[in-house]
Amino acid sequence: MTNQTTPINLTDLTFHELEALIVSLGEPPYRARQVWQWLWQKLCRDIELMTDVSKALRTRLSEAAVIAWPRVLRVSESADGTVKFLLGLADGEAVECVLIPERDHYTACLSTQVGCAMACGFCATGMLGFRRNMTPGEMLGQVLVARQYLLDKGEPLSLRNLVFMGMGEPLLNYENLVKTLEALHHPQGLDFSSRRITVSTAGVRRHLLDLGKTGLCSLAISLHAPTQEKREKIMPGAAKLALPELIEILRQYPLKPRESLTFEYLLLAGVNDADADARELVRLLSRVKAKVNLIVYNATPGLPYRQPSPERVFAFQEILKAKGITTTIRKSKGADIAAACGQLRAEAGCPADGGA
Ligand code: SAH
Repeated sequence: MTNQTTPINLTDLTFHELEALIVSLGEPPYRARQVWQWLWQKLCRDIELMTDVSKALRTRLSEAAVIAWPRVLRVSESADGTVKFLLGLADGEAVECVLIPERDHYTACLSTQVGCAMACGFCATGMLGFRRNMTPGEMLGQVLVARQYLLDKGEPLSLRNLVFMGMGEPLLNYENLVKTLEALHHPQGLDFSSRRITVSTAGVRRHLLDLGKTGLCSLAISLHAPTQEKREKIMPGAAKLALPELIEILRQYPLKPRESLTFEYLLLAGVNDADADARELVRLLSRVKAKVNLIVYNATPGLPYRQPSPERVFAFQEILKAKGITTTIRKSKGADIAAACGQLRAEAGCPADGGA
């Protein structure tokens, strides 16, 4: 398994892949557990520091592999406590991830791709186009960086929830996403339960039900329009899967007892925020076990959309609630540092201006 040109990044490996590597180096498989704990619980970045691993294994591992975290190019801190990281990847690409303070914990918003192919008309990431998929180690690296940041700050609140709502479309990077979710769950590693992880998708046919069958996360769907016609205008990529068909697929989505699907609905003034849109949405969602999370549009320079007034947002919410649909309004955080929903763009080539 040794590869001289591009060494293996240990954070890219599943537990079983790590076991196989260790066996290939002539060691018993149970040593993998020790190495895994160093990687994910002790945030170790140097194989030589794995003190309870034999010197011989450390040497052989160091010849075959490295531990590569994303490089922190910039840290931006919002007045509301939200923190945005610009992360440099090994090939010079960059992504952003966001750490959001909640009442008693932190939530991290993770990216899954460099750029995005979905081309939603209201989203800064969509304007970048697609560059490449992120590896499991790069996705998990965001969690490691966030954990280390909180540790360095002596922050008492812990990182407890993860949302895959950063840059990219998770279902278009499915194999790496599942490896990432499996690593997150490992009890000797980061040990996140599925209730603490949400994957958000604009809705792609391939792998939607597969993800449900893994039971590794809950699902959120970026709906944003109550009819196919409106959806095509604002989400041309996602709308390739027609709305009636999306709903039919979601009807088969395996839900745990008392679980429902979360539909995200982005309110764009004059586009999809009328009473008639809300009523149409109620009709559409009557076919599934749904709750709705309303998102007020966050302005992105260069895009033509506007925020609806607070009154409009509440009126829209009331129509859904009156029909028995649990409807929350997402609190926007980090807008002053362009860290709010839809504002992530990670301009590569941004000068690294400290914070690392
Ligand atoms: N591709 C996935 C993951 C991105 S999640 C998905 O579409 O679900 C990011 C969420 O923020 C999505 O619901 C997205 O539609 C929403 N969003 C995009 N641009 C936004 C903006 N300018 N203001 C508020 N929310 C936005």
